[in-house]
Order: sequence, then structure tokens, then C-alpha cells
Amino acid sequence: MLFDLSYRPCPVKHTLVLIPGDGIGPEVTEAVTRILSAAGADLEWVECQAGQAALDRGADRALPDETIDAVTEHGVALKGPCSTPIAGGFPSVNVALRRRLNLFGAVRPIRSLAGVPTRYENVDLVVVRENTEGLYSGIENTITEGVITSLKVATVTACRRIAKFAFEYAVSRGRRKITVLHKANVMKLSDGLFLECARDEHSRGFTQIEYEERIIDAACMQLVQDPGQFDVLLCENLYGDVISDLCAGMVGGLGVTPGANFGDRRAIFEAVHGTAPDIMGKNLANPLALLMSAVMMLNYLAANREDPACAEIANRLKDAYSGCLDAGEKTRDLGGTLSCSRFTEAVIARL
Ligand code: ATP
Repeated sequence: MLFDLSYRPCPVKHTLVLIPGDGIGPEVTEAVTRILSAAGADLEWVECQAGQAALDRGADRALPDETIDAVTEHGVALKGPCSTPIAGGFPSVNVALRRRLNLFGAVRPIRSLAGVPTRYENVDLVVVRENTEGLYSGIENTITEGVITSLKVATVTACRRIAKFAFEYAVSRGRRKITVLHKANVMKLSDGLFLECARDEHSRGFTQIEYEERIIDAACMQLVQDPGQFDVLLCENLYGDVISDLCAGMVGGLGVTPGANFGDRRAIFEAVHGTAPDIMGKNLANPLALLMSAVMMLNYLAANREDPACAEIANRLKDAYSGCLDAGEKTRDLGGTLSCSRFTEAVIARL
């Protein structure tokens, strides 16, 4: 017999959602799925659309229900950035996706990378950002002509939940300190509640973690002067957004800053950067931030779906991209000369 017809390939271990998004999203997601497949990750992708890409394909809204349903069903997604029109048009799809799936906690590790020299050395920070409320509640009103209000929402449930999440994260990762960034001297009630909940969670069961509070503007200056004095930064929604980009600038920019959004049972992994329309379609995008997000995703799968093979692949991917950076095989945003596709090939060659 030439062929054993009874042979069936092993079922794929993890079915995950892939959201290419807009701008450089399709380029970087394609690069990262190529690398994951070359690394032997046992993944099957369900591709879904969001953002302008969804509208372009005939969806009646930028965040189709099928996309929400797919992430709800499969639990984990890898996502490119989705465009958000400025001052008008549809509301932010990135924000809506996190809110509708209740992915309340964003984690953005900010680390210096060997082979990516910057003004700072040995930066090792984690930004934990509240994802569901604050000024991102999207409640804005025209009171009368020329008078607009924008509502900052803070609830005990969300403030307590993100504080507990941050402390649990700090404990599980062996981090030493949490700094809460706030402006409670001005926003006494909303930021005051954020602080109250953080203090309370700390005293309830996390006193082994050092705890401190800093006013956000002073903290920005202190971060730029000496990032080494900080460890985990706990922020409400808007502060977390701004601080993430500020910290990204210390380690080489948005091309090297990964991220993840966690809920109780689901997670979406996406880079901190946006759609970068200035470089879209030019093969210039750095896929590393999304690749690093994919490494976080594999570690999440290893921990939550008891699949140690995922952690092993995550380590190989880290070694491969670190080897590239060390050897100067970098994209242009990091001072290198490689295109998105050449960098992708360089990583694959080192696997
Ligand atoms: P959006 O409106 O979607 O947030 P944006 O261009 O305002 O898009 P980012 O996409 O975050 O904001 O980009 C900011 C700058 O960083 C741009 O000049 C962009 O080219 C650069 N940049 C962002 N991501 C990358 C990347 N992955 N590789 C290379 N350059 C990047």
C-alpha cells in the first residue's frame, strides 16, 4: 500500500482569532503568523475583521458582531491596530473591543533590548492600564453652542478590579513595587476613588509589594530623569495610554513595545502602536512589537491551557529576535536597514 488512508493529522491544539486591522496591521500580522508557523506553533487562525477593514469588506459597522462572537468563542486573539477617525466618524474600535469583551486590564512591558541602544539602559517597567472607563467612556455632550463636556467615569468595581489585577500580576511576576499615577489633587473624586481602591487592595493582601502614589505630571519628569526608580505603573485609562508611549520612547519606540488586554477568561494581544498610516504598504513596519505580543500570547496559552510547548516556542522566538537585534538585523525605526519582510525572514532563519 502506497498511502495509509487511515492517517489523520493531529488536530490543531489552539484555535485563535486573528484581526489584521488597518494601516500596517495586515503587514505585521502576516509577518508574525509566518514566524509563528515557522516556529512550529500549533495554531489555527480564524480571521476576523475590525476597523476600516471591516467597512471596506462590506460590514455595516466597524466592529462586526461576528468578530466579537469569534473572540468570545475562542478566548484569545492576536490583533493589529484599527484606525480611528479623529474628531468624528465611528468611535474607536480598539476601545470598543476591549469594553465589549470586558478586557479590563492592559499590560505593557517596557524593557531595554540588547542591540537597540537608546539614551537609557536597563529599563524594566510594566504599565498596567485600566481599559474600560475614565475619559474613554466616550460620554461627551454639547451643552450649548461652544460648550462641550466630556465625562470621566470611575466606578468602585472597575477601580478595585484593576488594582487587584495589578497586584496579582506583580506577585506572579516577582515584581517589587507598584506606583499609582494620579491627579487626585485636581480630580479629587474620580482619581481619589482610584487611589482609595488601590490602597485598599494593597492592604487587603499584597503588603509584600511596595506601594506608592505619584502625581502624574511629576511622575512623567521623574520617569524621564530616572526610570529605574519605578517598577509597575498602575494607571487609569488615559494616563495609561500616554505613559505607555512615553515609556516606549525610552526603549526604542513603538516598534518594540508589546501589549496584552486581559479579562477574566479572555485576552487580546496587540502592540501598543497604532496604524502608522505614514509607512503603511511600504514594507517598512517593524513587526517586532506584535511578535513580542505573540510571545506574551504563547506564554498565556502555556499558563492557561496547560501547554508547555507554547512556552518553549515563546523562548525560541525570543532568542531568535534577540539574535537578530544583536547582529544588527533591524528595521529602519531601530536604525537598521531591513524591510518588514526581510526582518521576518531574518527571524525565521534563526529559529
Ligand atoms: P493611529 O492614528 O492609528 O494611532 P498614528 O500614526 O497616529 O496612528 P502610531 O501608529 O502609533 O500612531 O505611530 C506613531 C509613529 O510611530 C508613526 O510615525 C509611525 O510610523 C511610527 N510607528 C508606529 N508603529 C511602528 C512600527 N511597528 N514600525 C515602525 N514605525 C512605527
